[in-house]
Amino acid sequence: MAMSVETLTALDDSLAQAMDSLLLAARAARERAYAPYSNFAVGAALLDEQGRVHAGCNVENAAYPQGQCAEASAIAHLVLAGGTRIVAAVVVGVADDPVTPCGGCRQRLREFASDDAPVWAADLQTVRARYTVGQLLPASFGPGHLKLAVKP
Ligand SMILES: [Zn+2]
Repeated sequence: MAMSVETLTALDDSLAQAMDSLLLAARAARERAYAPYSNFAVGAALLDEQGRVHAGCNVENAAYPQGQCAEASAIAHLVLAGGTRIVAAVVVGVADDPVTPCGGCRQRLREFASDDAPVWAADLQTVRARYTVGQLLPASFGPGHLKLAVKP
């Protein structure tokens, strides 16, 4: 479907505002991170298909593998609130390099997001890197593959 320039501009403005909200939410979530072992606090925020923001932080555990990433926490909040799609995502962490979702969380995001959904990696001051889900997880496996596997 063709979109007018005005419509695209309005969408861009809307998405830009949403990204600002996601940045604030992810930074606030990072403040709540439970990361006593790594001391590596991460916050994440997701925009759902209704324009709502869902945030999460990493939650570590003394039994290390039981720890949970910020993105997984945010996805749980999105699903609990009735969200079904991730329209955009922001991850906030402080490191020399931009903090991007780990491999497992790229797959978690992929479950609810299209390839062109933006995923921004930010710190406390600025957006360090901008990706899409498709760039972070190319040639990915997703829900559509399981539908294809079902024989009538
Ligand atoms: Zn992760």
